[in-house]
Amino acid sequence: EKLGLNEIREKFLAFFESKGHLRLPSFPLVPQGDASLLLINAGMAPLKPYFLGKETPPSKRVTTCQKCIRTPDIECVGLTARHGTFFEMLGNFSFGDYFKKEVTQWAWEFITKVLEIPEDRLWVSVYEEDKETVDLWVKNVGVSPDRIVYLGKEDNFWEIGTGPCGPCSEIYFDRGEEYGCGKPDCAVGCDCDRYVEFWNLVFTQFDKDENGNYNRLAHPNIDTGMGLERIACIMQGVTSIFEVDTIRRILDAAADMAKLTYGKDRNTDVSLRVITDHIRSTVFLVSDGVLPSNEGRGYVLRRLLRRAARHGKLLGIEGPFLYRLARVVANESRQAYPELERNFNYIEKVIKTEEERFDETIDQGLEILKGYIDALKAENKTELPGEQAFKLYDTYGFPIDLTKEILAESDMQVDENAFKELMDRQRSRARSARGDMEDAAWEEDIFAVFEGNTEFTGYDAVETEAVVLG
Ligand code: ATP
Ligand code: MG
Ligand code: MG
Ligand code: MG
Repeated sequence: EKLGLNEIREKFLAFFESKGHLRLPSFPLVPQGDASLLLINAGMAPLKPYFLGKETPPSKRVTTCQKCIRTPDIECVGLTARHGTFFEMLGNFSFGDYFKKEVTQWAWEFITKVLEIPEDRLWVSVYEEDKETVDLWVKNVGVSPDRIVYLGKEDNFWEIGTGPCGPCSEIYFDRGEEYGCGKPDCAVGCDCDRYVEFWNLVFTQFDKDENGNYNRLAHPNIDTGMGLERIACIMQGVTSIFEVDTIRRILDAAADMAKLTYGKDRNTDVSLRVITDHIRSTVFLVSDGVLPSNEGRGYVLRRLLRRAARHGKLLGIEGPFLYRLARVVANESRQAYPELERNFNYIEKVIKTEEERFDETIDQGLEILKGYIDALKAENKTELPGEQAFKLYDTYGFPIDLTKEILAESDMQVDENAFKELMDRQRSRARSARGDMEDAAWEEDIFAVFEGNTEFTGYDAVETEAVVLG
């Protein structure tokens, strides 16, 4: 029997508990007290105060499975086998406790002894100057030297500005030639889906100062991240993360709604994968208190939801459907994330309301955009004027990336500078109209929704904002 995604999560956390780690629950997707980040995008992100020594961790060894959102990966979703905007990151962390020797040994033990992945399918990348780690892999762990690849700073050195940073070492699984791009130089590090990076071990051993010097830390840290969906994809021997047991059930539910069979047509498959990914992000974002809006996190949510809604249209699904898929997402993940069940009525209502709202304008918006595209074609042009993109945004609720995606399907683009100028003008009008009150009122509305859980009031906040912005 193949290991399920939920079982793999448990095996990982239990393994690191057996190595003296404290298991902590996932932190919310909305960063707590960290203004530098819109959404949590890695297991280490909510633990930063411990890495920076600003707070004392509850234990020097911690293990988590962290909900993550990476919107920059949205362009890959549905096209590569391994990217989602939502995913879970497994991690083990050392705050000035163990270091490279232990982490490399335990990583190998977990994947070859617990998961029993054959060594001849594994590859390891190291930072080219990090001889210490090469020695540990080869002499201490027993990895064959010809399975180690040396990569530069771009790939295998982790740093953001100044502060703690260091080299990393990534573990890859070779899925076989049939998944390769076929190029003669296809190898570890290639963008194709043959060699899948599934675990990144980061050794934060330096503190980079203002002058660019790398000073060795007296108590270096360990931060690792393993994509749960990716390792499940490997363990289950399926083609992409979308075919992993729990995720496949969401995809199948979407295919049922569209009366389609997955695997029959490339374009409809891409749409099914996009919907599957975006409904996962949407459900988790709403559950963590994000509401659709035109700014910040709320806009990330709105873009994901509306993009998924449009892909539903492409598949011929009539009317709101995402709120029904939300049920499947909650069923698949509620064991690990009981908040999904607790918040479920709320989640469903937020998604349904946003869907219904977009449903009122999407058909008309698509019709208008089609008209613009036909007109451009007739004139042999490929760039949509900013005013037209702005009208689609402002009147029909088309996020700019949605307009761009549809245009790209006809090899066209938007005049983005003109669009941005119109957006800036609208924003400053809105800002002077509302003063500084808006943000505070917004926070309060979110609280009211969570505490008063009898009446849904969240959408009023969205309405208010839309009115102010409009
Ligand atoms: P890639 O090069 O494949 O985009 P990455 O180097 O950006 O991955 P890391 O930042 O090292 O990824 O994150 C640690 C791990 O999290 C990765 O090794 C991978 O298993 C997982 N991961 C990263 N991004 C995604 C994603 N968009 N979807 C699913 N899993 C991901
Ligand atoms: Mg990446
Ligand atoms: Mg990478
Ligand atoms: Mg990486």
